[in-house]
Amino acid sequence: MRARAPSATFQCLFLAYAILPFPLSESEPCMTARVLDGLKIRDQIFVELRDEISHLHAQGIRPGLAAVLVGENPASQLYVKSKIAACEQLGLASWLHTPLAASTTEYMLKLVDDLNRDDNIDGILVQLPLPKQVDTKRVLEAVDPAKDVDGFHPVSLGKLVSGREGLVACTPAGCMEILRRNNIPIEGANAVVLGRSDIVGKPMALLLMHANATVTICHSKTRDLPDVVRRADIVVAAMGKAGHVQADWLKSGSAVIDVGTNKVTDAAEAESLLKNFPQRLAKFREKGSVLVGDVHPDAINTAGALTPVPGGVGPMTITMLMSNTVKAARLRRARGALGASL
Ligand code: NAP
Repeated sequence: MRARAPSATFQCLFLAYAILPFPLSESEPCMTARVLDGLKIRDQIFVELRDEISHLHAQGIRPGLAAVLVGENPASQLYVKSKIAACEQLGLASWLHTPLAASTTEYMLKLVDDLNRDDNIDGILVQLPLPKQVDTKRVLEAVDPAKDVDGFHPVSLGKLVSGREGLVACTPAGCMEILRRNNIPIEGANAVVLGRSDIVGKPMALLLMHANATVTICHSKTRDLPDVVRRADIVVAAMGKAGHVQADWLKSGSAVIDVGTNKVTDAAEAESLLKNFPQRLAKFREKGSVLVGDVHPDAINTAGALTPVPGGVGPMTITMLMSNTVKAARLRRARGALGASL
C-alpha cells in the first residue's frame, strides 16, 4: 500500500518549523517543558483542607484568620480580598481590620495583642508593606508564634532551621508542594535557590535541605550565575528580576520553580521578553502591562518542567496560608480542650 502524501497543512507547518527559529504561538508543539500548574494543586489541597475543616467543625472548632490591612494600598487591598475570599470558600472564619494609614507602631502593637488574646482567632496576617512610620519588625515579632500563619516570626524560622514542626512561610511551602505533588525527585538533587530573602529564598533553601537536596543559595554577589544554574536539577528563582534567568542557563530536564512576579510595563522590555509569544505580546499591547517571572519565558523550550507565571507559585501562596491557618488551629487548640483527640 502506498503511503499517503502529507496534507497541504502539514507541509506548510513543516516548512514553517524548518525555517522559523521559534514557535509560532504558545500552543505550538515544540514546547518541551511540563507545565507545573499551581491552580490544579491549589484545587487538590482545597479538597483536602475542606475535609480537615469539616472534622474540626464536628468538634465545635471553626478555624479563623484575622487579616490586618493598614491604609489603602491597592495591591495590598487586592491580596487581602483574595485571602478573605479563600477563607469563605473553605468555611474558615475571617475578620478584617483596617487601621488608618496614619496608625502608629503602638496602635498596631495593641491591635496585635488583642488578636493574640482572642481564642477564636487561629491565624494573624499583617499585610505588608506597613506604612513607613510603623516599625514592621516589632509588629511582626509581636504576633503570637502559635498564630504566625505567615511564618515570618523568628520562632517560626528557628523551628524551620532546627527541623521542628511549625508554621512555614507560605510561598516556599507552596513551592515544595508543587515539587512533591509533581513527583519531582528532591533527595540527592542539586537545587539552586536564586535569592536569599527571609520570606522566600532562605526558608526555601532550608526546606530543600531538609528534603535532602544539595542546596546552593545565590544572591546579587554570586559570581558566574549561569554556571551555577547549569548544574541544577532544581532551580528556584526568587530575585524580582523579570526574565533574568536565561533559557540556555538551564540543564536539560531541570525543574524550574519561578517565584518572580514582575509587572512589566515597558514596551521595549515586553517586546524583547515575549518575542516568541505573540499571544501574550498582543495582550500586553492591549493592557499595557504583563506579568513575567524571574525566568525568561523561552525557558519553556529548555526546562524539563516549569511553573508558569501567572498560575504557578502565585495561587500556592494563598493556598498555604489557608493550610497554615488550619494547621495553627489544630496545633494550638490540640494543646487545650481537644487533648489527644486531634
Ligand atoms: P527580595 O527581598 O527583593 O530579595 C531578592 C533576592 O534576590 C535578594 O536576596 C537578592 O540578593 C537576590 N538578587 C537580586 N538580583 C540578583 C541577581 N542579579 N542575581 C542573583 N540574585 C539576585 O525579594 P523577595 O521578597 O524574596 O521576592 C522575590 C520575587 O518573588 C519577587 O519578584 C516577588 O514579587 C516574588 N514573590 C512572589 C510571591 C508569590 O506568591 N508568587 C511571593 C513572594 C515573593 P541580595 O540579598 O544580595 O540583595
